[in-house]
Amino acid sequence: MVKLAIVVPCYNEEEVLNETSKRLLSVIDKLVHNNKISPESYILFVNDGSKDNTWMIISELHELNDTFCGLSVSRNVGHQKALLAGLEFVSDKCDVAISIDADLQDDVNAIEEMIDKHAQGNDIVYGVRSSREKDSFFKKHTALVFYKLMSALGVETVYNHADFRLMSSRALNALLEYKERNLFLRGIMPLIGYQTDKVYYKRDARFAGTSKYPFNKMLSFAINGITSFSVKPLRIISLVGVISLIISLISLIYILISYFSGNIIQGWSSMMASIWFIGSLIIISLGVIGEYVGKIYIEVKERPLFNIEKTLFKDDKTKL
Ligand code: UDP
Ligand code: MG
Repeated sequence: MVKLAIVVPCYNEEEVLNETSKRLLSVIDKLVHNNKISPESYILFVNDGSKDNTWMIISELHELNDTFCGLSVSRNVGHQKALLAGLEFVSDKCDVAISIDADLQDDVNAIEEMIDKHAQGNDIVYGVRSSREKDSFFKKHTALVFYKLMSALGVETVYNHADFRLMSSRALNALLEYKERNLFLRGIMPLIGYQTDKVYYKRDARFAGTSKYPFNKMLSFAINGITSFSVKPLRIISLVGVISLIISLISLIYILISYFSGNIIQGWSSMMASIWFIGSLIIISLGVIGEYVGKIYIEVKERPLFNIEKTLFKDDKTKL
């Protein structure tokens, strides 16, 4: 029977943890009861440098029942890295791992279906939102633009899939081989391969608390996702360059014609307009190139993505 690890990144989630832990535990109990997973299965809460009582709640849960485990990174490193810290931690302590958000937006009842699909031989099972009714108008539409843009730029992602997914231990080990610092797990997963499937669920509203992904974080996450997986923006710059060259050649003909017909004084406004236009194109292009150079700069340093501060695990003798 497979040993399941459920990995839950948590940043200031004191309002939801009690409910989340209850619901996840009942899923585990049910699956153990139905002989689908081993009784050794567990839930790992990753505390991503929370400033509230998140870690205290995790410690209390662990004291009550060691099916609840905890891991604390040394400061707030962000959802993706916190999740990776958890996945790396469980990679040699389970047969399958499922990652899920702490706020109960993802349907915990889809976990059973994921386990069934794994039993049918799938190494990765993606949780896909069948509806976004409960998301705000803004979130729904920005997300749609993002997915469309990603696919237009040639990045393969699973539509409407966030980070609710099952991974077998070999998929997990394959994931850990990707050494990139600019983490966008959703883009890496399709590169891993193996047999995959999807499970559809209704995405609910956050159980309590507020989103830990404000607009600026979401935007930088989207830019990161695109520039980590596609060099098309760089190519578009070259294309824009070629197009403006053609335009300038055509206007050169026009300028020469005007010159020879004696019409040379007018045109100050059009010249100013084109200088500003070309100038801004150059600056934007430099910005896009800078984005990639910055990425290379971050990658070559090979800094660790996170430091683990404390762990609470079943027979952990090194408890801090
Ligand atoms: N999260 C995290 N670190 C962060 C921000 C978020 O670990 O810096 C966790 C958060 O606790 C939650 C998950 O990532 O479990 C998704 O965050 P949230 O629900 O706030 O994002 P949204 O659903 O609004 O996009
Ligand atoms: Mg959420």
